[in-house]
Amino acid sequence: MQTSIVLFTCDLRLSDHPPLRAAVHGGGQVVPLFVRDPAVDRAGFAVPNRLAFLADCLRDLDAGLRERGGRLVLREGDTVTEVCRVAAEADADEIHMAGDTSAFACVRERRLRRALEADGRRLYVHDTVGTAVAPGAVTPASSDHFAVFTPYFRRWSEQSLRSVLDAPRAITVPAEVRSAPLPERGEVSGVSPQLCAGGETEGRRRFTAWLRSGVHTYASRHDDLAGDATSRLSPHLHFGTLSPVEVVCRARATGGADAEAYVRQIAWRDFHRQVLAARPDAAAHDYRTHRDRWRDGKDAAAEAAAWRQGRTGYPLVDAAMRQLRQEGWMHNRGRLLTASFLTKTLYLDWRLGARHFLDLLVDGDVANNQLNWQWMAGTGTDTRPNRVLNPLAQGKRHDPDGAYVRRWVPELANVEGAAVHAPWKLPEPERSRTGYPEPVVSLAEGLERFKRARGRS
Ligand SMILES: Cc1cc2nc3c(=O)[nH]c(=O)nc-3n(C[C@H](O)[C@H](O)[C@H](O)COP(=O)(O)OP(=O)(O)OC[C@H]3O[C@@H](n4cnc5c(N)ncnc54)[C@H](O)[C@@H]3O)c2cc1C
Repeated sequence: MQTSIVLFTCDLRLSDHPPLRAAVHGGGQVVPLFVRDPAVDRAGFAVPNRLAFLADCLRDLDAGLRERGGRLVLREGDTVTEVCRVAAEADADEIHMAGDTSAFACVRERRLRRALEADGRRLYVHDTVGTAVAPGAVTPASSDHFAVFTPYFRRWSEQSLRSVLDAPRAITVPAEVRSAPLPERGEVSGVSPQLCAGGETEGRRRFTAWLRSGVHTYASRHDDLAGDATSRLSPHLHFGTLSPVEVVCRARATGGADAEAYVRQIAWRDFHRQVLAARPDAAAHDYRTHRDRWRDGKDAAAEAAAWRQGRTGYPLVDAAMRQLRQEGWMHNRGRLLTASFLTKTLYLDWRLGARHFLDLLVDGDVANNQLNWQWMAGTGTDTRPNRVLNPLAQGKRHDPDGAYVRRWVPELANVEGAAVHAPWKLPEPERSRTGYPEPVVSLAEGLERFKRARGRS
């Protein structure tokens, strides 16, 4: 009987899973395999929030497989060595996996292909597992990738997507292939107190609820910080417990401008992936450099520490940074503002902020995180690279009566209305009683310094 392996990586689901469908389609036995590879951890993955979410995902995947007569096989070690070992144990001829874009994933795929072919086995890499449109599927006439989102989105929208695939009904796993014990969320320490739950079951539940009662107001409410009216599906898209193809198809099927605005955000995700696939160095180096000489030294280090702790003295910035620590997630508007504040108002290196985000974000993702940081730092794909977000103006627009700040900054919980955005204006002794810090820098001074640095003053 033919045996195939499905190597799961960032695609921890059974529904709409082309590699799994192809393996099951052969009619033989299937080894659903996940490898905990220390090299992935060394590359920066092993942070508590993502490890805890991953534990949920693996347990849910195993439960889904067991309902179908199968089980998940977990191995620990170098991915290539472990896949070859399992392939030999199970006498598997075919190995199926999803394509991925990071430099790490590309090297892994090349090594795996070589090792498997040397053993007389074949590796099949499936696209549109982690993206709706594969990187490189649409390109401009003169380049291997789009460097600007709007023309990319136009072409992306014209693509017809493949059909959404059902989860297989039954899976037979060869009995002789053993598994290491699955991790448990409770074994991970240092997890954010309000971290969300992982797993395909939870992802599908959230997505269905979102289509029923969230997506219809997306266009008007997605920037409302206190309203918290976005889908919060980013961790599920990151771990692949939801399929981007299915998300786009089902969102489109609900119809209307709000659903389209939502689908546009999924296109941003694909956009960053096609940039990273073409320019893997953009994970660590400026995509478009301005030869910035970011500040360093003692003052810069102290300001970076205040930013990380949510003690910059700017309540909206601090609220977002504290949400990140508490939930392992931050609202997009908060991400934009805190990134602008670090890179432009404080004029500190975007890599410093990107690393802190990756240390905490449950959806922390090389393509989305590094390229959004670069976008905001003006070293990426933004066509207005010197835009600076003002925390007071952002507060007025996106948290007009201060509810978001009061939720996350307890020192200011008793300050009513919009006054919460400028605590330095409170009368004494009320201001001192809050214990909230003074601004680390004046906005005018920060702006002037940034303009000088970019040669614009
Ligand atoms: C500095 C910075 C760092 C970021 N780091 C990450 C990251 O590590 N991982 C991550 O998934 N997103 C990141 N984003 C993008 C965005 O902030 C999050 O995807 C979004 O806030 C997740 O919340 P949601 O699922 O409720 O989004 P929704 O508004 O409901 O959007 C739906 C989906 O579209 C995708 N999406 C939305 N906005 C963007 C965007 N700007 N770029 C790419 N994809 C987007 C996400 O997959 C999201 O789940 C970052 C943004 C900035 C400005």
